[in-house]
Amino acid sequence: MAIVYLNGEFLPVEQACVSVTDRGFIFGDGVYEVIPVYGGRLFRLEQHLDRLACSLAAIRLDNPLATEEWRQCLQELVARNGDGDQSLYLQITRGAAPRDHAFPKDVSPTVYAATSPLKPMAAEVAEQGVAAITLDDIRWQRCDIKAITLLANILMRQRAVEQGAAEALLVRDGLVNEGAASNLFMVKDGVLVTPPKGPLLLPGITRDLVLELAAAEGIAHREAAITPADLQAAEEVWLTSSTREILPVTHLDQRPVGNGRPGPLWRRMMRLYQDYKQGVRERGEAPAA
Ligand code: PMP
Repeated sequence: MAIVYLNGEFLPVEQACVSVTDRGFIFGDGVYEVIPVYGGRLFRLEQHLDRLACSLAAIRLDNPLATEEWRQCLQELVARNGDGDQSLYLQITRGAAPRDHAFPKDVSPTVYAATSPLKPMAAEVAEQGVAAITLDDIRWQRCDIKAITLLANILMRQRAVEQGAAEALLVRDGLVNEGAASNLFMVKDGVLVTPPKGPLLLPGITRDLVLELAAAEGIAHREAAITPADLQAAEEVWLTSSTREILPVTHLDQRPVGNGRPGPLWRRMMRLYQDYKQGVRERGEAPAA
């Protein structure tokens, strides 16, 4: 039976209850993280906890646990769910209080974490890639906060799914910043390009690792704005996220990207990424530089 963590306790998911007055339920007033686990080891935990701290600071919520407490708590949750490969979801809301937009006083946050099985990439995806569509970005102006308030992302992803696509790429003021739940890369003239970080996109942990691996391997890369026209002319387009890793986009708005097959640089980066994962499985994560 799945064991979850809720406010200091480990308990079966069926017994985990949150008040209907919780501000996460009422307002979506909270933040979250999704951390992959390989062979029982939390992947890029330090980076995920750093980003969590940034999200909490941005919504003016005190971090309920210190780094070492997070590490112990999440590692125990992983162990109680049988180690192996998992996707760990972690959410903190401002807590239960009478409904009022302004922050409540003297309220404890609600801290919840749970894991689910992490599926490897389907062979079909690796062979054929996925389709994506471009859509107007209807989100707010603080997309760098990993907020649980995901209605805009949900509506855009649903439109993609209804058109047979795996992701919506979001366009604002003539630039494509990221996907509904992923970061964006393209290969142009052999150079790997991704939009620079800023308030209009989530600073993805997978994105940073891909850039790190590119730097370590001498793969030409740069951070630069991407337009829809750039994507149409790109040799390769990829999406990155913790659970989907590096997805090759082979059709964009019904047109093939490059030759319509996953590209050679994607294949090379996937190999580097899988090797890195294997290293974490065997030896754990090296401390961040
Ligand atoms: N952008 C958005 C909007 C996302 O929701 C996600 C995944 N949660 C990402 C990017 C990718 O981030 P990460 O690599 O940290 O999973």
